[in-house]
Amino acid sequence: MSFILVTGGAGYIGSHVVKELLQKGYQPIVYDNLDTGHREAVREAPLIEGDLADGEKLRETFQTYSIKAVIHFAASCLVEESVEHPLKYFKNNLSNSIQLLEVMEEFQVNRIVFSSSAAVYGEPLEIPISEEHPSAPTNPYGETKWMFEQILQRSSKAGRVRYISLRYFNAAGADPEGDLGEDHSPETHLIPLVLRAAFFGKPISIFGTDYDTPDGTCIRDYIHVTDLAHGHLLALQRLESGRDSGIYNLGNGKGFSVREVIQVAERVTGEKIAVHESPRRPGDPSCLIASSEKIRKELGWRPRYPELETMIQTAWNWHRSQFKAMSRMPD
Ligand code: UDP
Repeated sequence: MSFILVTGGAGYIGSHVVKELLQKGYQPIVYDNLDTGHREAVREAPLIEGDLADGEKLRETFQTYSIKAVIHFAASCLVEESVEHPLKYFKNNLSNSIQLLEVMEEFQVNRIVFSSSAAVYGEPLEIPISEEHPSAPTNPYGETKWMFEQILQRSSKAGRVRYISLRYFNAAGADPEGDLGEDHSPETHLIPLVLRAAFFGKPISIFGTDYDTPDGTCIRDYIHVTDLAHGHLLALQRLESGRDSGIYNLGNGKGFSVREVIQVAERVTGEKIAVHESPRRPGDPSCLIASSEKIRKELGWRPRYPELETMIQTAWNWHRSQFKAMSRMPD
C-alpha cells in the first residue's frame, strides 16, 4: 500500500485535503506537530505527531510507510508575526521544507504539492493577478513561500523532484458536511471574526475604510476550502500522470469587500453585526483578485461553491456548533 504524506494535515486546509483524499480512495498519513493543528481534525488517517525540524522522526516515517507523494502544508502563516519574528519563518517555512526535500530525495520520493500563497505577489500591479504577475512579497511570510518555490524550481530543473505549487487566495468556509472547520488561535481572519461578532454580539473592527475601492474597504478573493482541497487532488493526479511541474493560482476570480462580507454574514446569521471603523492594518493591499484560468484550463479545476453566501453559511454552521459549547467568546 502506498501513502500520501500530508505535512500540516491537522490544520484548516490540510484537514479538508485529508478528508478529500480519504473520500477518493487515497491513504493519507498526517505529519503535524499540533502547534496550531487539531488532533480531532485528522479523523481516520494515521497521525504522526512530529516536527519537520526533527529529521530522525521524519526519516523514521519514510522508513515505516511506503510514501509515494507529499502534500506540504506545515508552515507558520501569520503575516504580522512574520514581520516581528522573521527567523521563526525562515526556519519553519524554509529550512524545515528543505529538510523535507532532502529526506524525500533519500527515500526516492519525488512528487510534492506545495501550499503557496497569493502573498508571493505583494502589492498587485494589475487585477486579476495571473501567475505571470511579478513576485515582490512585502513580508517574510510571503518571502518564504516565494523562496521555496524557487528551490522547487531549481530542484525540478535538476531532475530531483516534480512539483505543483498552489498559490491560494483567501481560504474560507467549512466542510459542507459539518465535519471540519476553521479554528485558529489567535484568530485573525475576517470571516471567523465576523461570525464570532454575530454570535457573541460584539463589534467587528474594519481595518481601513479609506481604500481606493467602491465602499472604501479592502477587496479579497474568497475561495471555499473544499474547492481549494479539490485543487490539491487534481495537482496530485497531474503529478501521478507524469506531466510537468507547475505553479497555479487558486481563487474564485471574484472580489468582495470587507463591508460586503459583513452584509452577507448578517443575512446568513440573521444577526445585526456592529462594526468599529479602525485604521488600516499595515501591509494590506487594497484589492487582491486571482485569475484562476490556468488551473481551470490545465487541470480542469472548477469551484463547486463559488458563492460567498455558501462559504459563510458552511462556516456559520460549523462555528455556531463550536460557539454553543463555549461560555464566552474565544480570544
Ligand atoms: N479584516 C478586517 N477586520 C478584521 C480582520 C480582517 O477588516 O478583524 C480585513 C483585512 O484588513 C483584509 C480582509 O479583512 O482586508 C481579509 O483579511 P484576512 O486576515 O481574513 O485575510 P488576508 O487577506 O489578510 O490573508
